[in-house]
Amino acid sequence: MAKRDYYEVLGVSKNATADELKKAYRQLAIKYHPDKNPGNKEAEDKFKEAAEAYEVLTDPEKKAKYDRFGHAGMGQGGYGGGTHMNMDDIFSQFGDVFGDGSPFESFFGGGRSGGRRQNGVRGNDVRIKVKMNLQEVAAGAEKKIKYKRMKVAEGLTFKTCTTCNGAGQIRRVTQTFLGQMATTQACPMCHGSGKIVDKRPAGAGPDGLIPVEDIVTINIPAGVADGMQLSMSGKGNAGPGGGPSGDLIIAIEEQEDPILKRDGNNILFDLYVSFADAALGTTVEVPTVDGKVKVKIDAGTQAGKILRLRSKGVPELNSHHRGDQLVHVNIWTPQKLTADEKELLEKLRDADNFKPHPSKNEKGFFERMREYFN
Ligand SMILES: [Zn+2]
Repeated sequence: MAKRDYYEVLGVSKNATADELKKAYRQLAIKYHPDKNPGNKEAEDKFKEAAEAYEVLTDPEKKAKYDRFGHAGMGQGGYGGGTHMNMDDIFSQFGDVFGDGSPFESFFGGGRSGGRRQNGVRGNDVRIKVKMNLQEVAAGAEKKIKYKRMKVAEGLTFKTCTTCNGAGQIRRVTQTFLGQMATTQACPMCHGSGKIVDKRPAGAGPDGLIPVEDIVTINIPAGVADGMQLSMSGKGNAGPGGGPSGDLIIAIEEQEDPILKRDGNNILFDLYVSFADAALGTTVEVPTVDGKVKVKIDAGTQAGKILRLRSKGVPELNSHHRGDQLVHVNIWTPQKLTADEKELLEKLRDADNFKPHPSKNEKGFFERMREYFN
């Protein structure tokens, strides 16, 4: 299913303030809330869609990526990108959106008491780098990556938290000029779970987490560039106290190709032909990201000519458009000459055809550059 534009989903403009986003999301969340639409798949999809749009547009980093790359920047097709939210993620988001007084209990008769309480704190994100050569950038690549992350250790035993006596929450009463204010907070010791680790295996920390080596397979789309980041939701460190896992953030590290230079979506290549080939015309093989291609050099080709190989560049991310390969023709001047060669060239030197005759039809350096940049 094609994803709808996040701004369209929430019905807000690109410059919407945090308050406008919150207001738009509240209205949709109330309208499509599953308690209000039991068994209605369409309402559930709309509910999730709105939550996802809100999640992305209120996170400056995700919003910037979305504004630049659209859904592809979010990692459609399996990267997660923090946009694949399940119901628990959505309900845990409500604390920020509705404050402590969630409207749902009063609206829907408290049907969700307890079950949706979020335990624990979210685990940290894990950051890794993945190297991509030019061929992989041009074609996209599937990468299997080994990395370290924290997981919940096996064989843990738990005991009741001594700080909150198992309630998971701590009630604090403070005096203000308006009178007494009572607030409840998640217990800092057990992170809301009411339990703390009692016995743990060797190597596990007091939070019950243990470092493990994990392997993920990531499909990296064609057209990525150095420094771009993909994320896989929930593949980071586990959260202490039963909290949700963080994300795995994968940064692209682009490796320079020794022969083909990338310039945006175009590829630049310096070709050298002999003076004889340039004068007589020939066919040469030119390397491209797709392998070698044959290129015709017309008789009388001048040094500095730029040949354009259409669609032999790098694909634009999230598009069918592909850049070109630009072949810059250089004429190789021999640097050592035998006595015979010298004699032949001496004879040709004075021939009228061998003297430069730049005509008005000849494209100058500036014209060629202008052509290239257009
Ligand atoms: Zn506690």
